[in-house]
Amino acid sequence: MMNCKQATRLMSENLDRPLRWRERIALRLHLLMCGGCRNFKDQIAFLRTTIRF
Ligand SMILES: [Zn+2]
Repeated sequence: MMNCKQATRLMSENLDRPLRWRERIALRLHLLMCGGCRNFKDQIAFLRTTIRF
């Protein structure tokens, strides 16, 4: 099972490269169980849209 450190690293890498399906599934499973990483993901999504604009 993926831990929080791996999950946040993957989400950061996803800014630079597409994730493999295996990584996406592991990440999604982790996010289902972990509120802290869901918050992190929301922040990244916010940053991404901000940078895009
Ligand atoms: Zn987590």
